[in-house]
Amino acid sequence: MECANCHRQIPDHSDFCSFCGMRQPSVGEELTRAGREVFEATAAVFNRVVEAAKPVAKDVAKGAGDVARGTATAVKPAAGKAAKAVEPAVRETKKVAKSVARKAARATTSAARKVKRAAKK
Ligand SMILES: [Zn+2]
Repeated sequence: MECANCHRQIPDHSDFCSFCGMRQPSVGEELTRAGREVFEATAAVFNRVVEAAKPVAKDVAKGAGDVARGTATAVKPAAGKAAKAVEPAVRETKKVAKSVARKAARATTSAARKVKRAAKK
């Protein structure tokens, strides 16, 4: 095995290094250290992924903004055209409604007059 301190080869299962005298870590300590290394490596990879994703996310957000702006710009003239196309129909509807109201008013007036005349007799 390799000494944890001076990295020279020492007999397997040694408790101390025969070169530097350093106490060798137990299996539990080695496992704890390995676990910490794995955790740190995972965190490092995660940070790299987050850092790599940042500009992509920015691009996506910018792209979505551009699409939204483009849609708004494209829709504006269409909405204007639609409003203009509807205008004559609205005018016509107003005219028809006015004439219907006038006819109804006249019919009511003449009916009322007839009732009045009938009442006088
Ligand atoms: Zn050593």
